[in-house]
Amino acid sequence: MSDTLDTLLSESRHFPPSAEFTSSARVSDPDIYDQALADSLAYWEGWAKKLDWFEPWQEVLHWELPHAQWFVGGKLNACYNCVDRHVVQGRGDRVAIVWEGEPGDVQTITYAELQKSVAQIANALKQLGVRKGDRVCIYMPMVPELAMTMLACARMGAAHSVVFGGFSAESLQERTNDAQAKVIVTADGGWRRGGIVPLKAITDQALRLGCPSVQHVLMLERAGPEGTWTQGLATPSYDRGEWVEGRDVAWREIVPTQSTECPCEPMDSEDLLFILYTSGSTGKPKGIVHTTGGYLTGVYATTQWVFDLQDSDLFWCTADCGWVTGHSYVVYGPLANAAKILMYEGAPDTPSKDRFWKIIEKHQVTILYTAPTAIRTFMKWGEEWPQGCNLSSLRLLGSVGEPINPEAWIWYHENIGRGRCPIVDTWWQTETGHIMISPLPGITTTKPGSATRPFPGIEAVIVDEQGVDLSTQHLAEVRAGTATGDCGGILAIKRPWPGMLRGIFGDPERYKATYWSRFDGMYFPGDGAKLDSEGYFWLLGRVDDIMLVAGHNISTMEVESALVDHPAVAEAAVIGKQDAIKGQGIAAFVIIKADVESQDGLVEELRKHVAAKIGAIARPDVIYLCADLPKTRSGKIMRRLLRDVAEGRALGDTTTLADASVVASLKEQYESLEG
Ligand code: ATP
Ligand code: MG
Repeated sequence: MSDTLDTLLSESRHFPPSAEFTSSARVSDPDIYDQALADSLAYWEGWAKKLDWFEPWQEVLHWELPHAQWFVGGKLNACYNCVDRHVVQGRGDRVAIVWEGEPGDVQTITYAELQKSVAQIANALKQLGVRKGDRVCIYMPMVPELAMTMLACARMGAAHSVVFGGFSAESLQERTNDAQAKVIVTADGGWRRGGIVPLKAITDQALRLGCPSVQHVLMLERAGPEGTWTQGLATPSYDRGEWVEGRDVAWREIVPTQSTECPCEPMDSEDLLFILYTSGSTGKPKGIVHTTGGYLTGVYATTQWVFDLQDSDLFWCTADCGWVTGHSYVVYGPLANAAKILMYEGAPDTPSKDRFWKIIEKHQVTILYTAPTAIRTFMKWGEEWPQGCNLSSLRLLGSVGEPINPEAWIWYHENIGRGRCPIVDTWWQTETGHIMISPLPGITTTKPGSATRPFPGIEAVIVDEQGVDLSTQHLAEVRAGTATGDCGGILAIKRPWPGMLRGIFGDPERYKATYWSRFDGMYFPGDGAKLDSEGYFWLLGRVDDIMLVAGHNISTMEVESALVDHPAVAEAAVIGKQDAIKGQGIAAFVIIKADVESQDGLVEELRKHVAAKIGAIARPDVIYLCADLPKTRSGKIMRRLLRDVAEGRALGDTTTLADASVVASLKEQYESLEG
C-alpha cells in the first residue's frame, strides 16, 4: 500500500484578480501572509482588538493540547458586538437584514430595530426561566426571528443549539436532550416548495418522544392565519400540532410586550456560545462546542477579508442557520462587521428555477456565498435560468461545503459571475468555526477547484499516514522555483486558531480521539489534500472515502471532477468497492444533465473520458446513471451510504439523510443490475 495520495487531476486555468478589484480591496498586500505567521498571536490579538470588550484579556492563548483558551480572562458579549455597538456608533439606521419569504413577502430591518427586537426576545426567554449558562434549542424556518433568537441567547448568556428545520422529530429530540435545553423556540411552520413544514407539530412529536429538560416551547406564528406579518398570504393546510397549556407559549403574546431594554451579559471569552452538530456525512453527527471570544474574532476577520466586505455590500450567504455556515456567515461574521445581509426562507426552485437569480436582481445582492451542491443543481437545470436575469450587481462569489469540481467552478464563474467576479472557494468545517483555506480576492490568483492557501495566521500542512510532514519541503521548493509535481496526503492544522472547537458536547474522549490522536500535536480534520507545484492547496475529499486501487490511493474528488468535466454530466459520486484483484474497484454514480437524452454508449464514453482525462488507473469499473444521489440535509453527497449499497450491507446512520427514497431506489436499481 502506498503511503501518500496519488494525484491525477491537473488544472492549468488561472484567474488573477482584476486591477480594479485589487485597487479597492480590503486587503491587497501579499506580505500579510508572512507577517501573520511570523507572530500569529500578535496577529490574532490585532483582530480581537477590533471587537468591543468589556474587560481586556490577560493572555492571548493558553494551549494545553487538546484544550485551547483564547483571550484568557477577557469579557465580551457576542450580541453587543453584532448589534449594539453599531447603534452606539451612530449606525442604527443602517439596514442589517433584508429578508424575503418564499411567498414573496419582504422585510427590511435596521440595526436599531434589530437591537430592540433582540432585547425583547431575550427578556421573553428570561420570563420563561432561561438563565445565563442555560441552553436553548432553536428549531425555526429561515425567518429574521431565527437570527434574532440566536442573538437574544447570546445577549443574555444562554447557549443556543440550532436544529435545522428539515430535521425529524427524532433528531430534534436527540439534540434537545444532548444539550439539556430548557426551552425550544420554534414556529407554527415555515414555507418550503409552496407548502408548509409543520415545525410545531414536529416539535410536539419530539416532546412526546421525551425531552425531560424542556419546560417551555415558544412558538412564532409564521405560517398560520394569526401570523401578524403573514397577513394576506393564503396558507396551504398543514398540521398545526397541539397546544399544551402551561408548556406552550405564543410569541405574539409574550415577545412584543417585553421591554426593549435588556443589558448584554458580560461573558467570559471562553463561555459557551453555541453547540452545533456536524452534517453527518461520514457518520453520526458530533455536537461541536464553540465559545465566545475566539470564535467571534475568527468569523469577524474572515468575513471581512475573504469576502472583501465593504459598506455598500449586500451579502447573501444561502446557508440555513441550521448549519455552521449560517452561524458564521449569515449571523455572527457579517453582523459583527455591521454588514447588510440577505436572508431567504425557501427553496431555489419555487415558484421557478430562477428564484435565486430573481432575488439577486431584485435586491441588488453584491456577494453570493453558496455550495457546490447548489451550483451543480443549477448546472443540471441549465443556464437559461440565470441568463434571463440581470446579475450585474454581483461582484464576488463564494463556495463552501464540498470540493467544487473545476467544471462547476467554471460554470459558476461564467453563468453567475459573468466572467467578472472572483470566486472564493472556502475550506472549513463545523469544527474550525471559520474559514481556514481560501483565496483573498484582492490578492490571490485563483484556479478552478483549488481553495488556494491558508487564511493568514492559519498553518496547514500535508502529512502522510504516519503524520510525517510532506509539505514544508515541497513549499520550500515552490519558493525556490524548483518544485515539480504535486504533494498529496492528509491535511493537518499545526497551530491553534481562535475559532477552533473547544470540544464535543459532553464527550471529551471522543473529542480527543477524533481530532487530536491521529497525529502528534496537530489537528486532524479528516480530509485528503494535495499541494500543487505552485503551492496551492486542493481538497480531495474525505480520508474515509479514499480508494485503494491496485496499490494507488485515489481520491474520490479527482475522479468525480473528471466525470463532471464531460458535457453530459451534472453530478457524480465515486466510491471504492471491494474487488478481488485490485483491492478496490471504482464505482461511479452519475446524474446526467436535464437536456441530455440518456444514449446507448454513454457509460462507455464516460469511462473512456475519465481514463483520457486523468489516467487508466482511475477508469471506473462500473457507472450507474441515476436520477439522484443520497445527500445530507445540508446537501453533501453521502458516499458511505453508496458504499453500503454497493457492498450489500445494511445502511449506516441515516438520520442526516435528506431523502430516504433516493437510497432506497438506488438500492433497488443496484440489486436488479447486479442480479
Ligand atoms: P461529519 O463531520 O458529521 O461527517 P461534515 O464533515 O460534512 O459531517 P461539516 O462540518 O458541515 O460536516 O463539513 C465539513 C467538511 O466539508 C470538511 O471536512 C470537508 O470535507 C468539506 N468541505 C467544506 N468546504 C469545503 C471546500 N471548500 N472544499 C472541499 N471540501 C470542503
Ligand atoms: Mg466532518
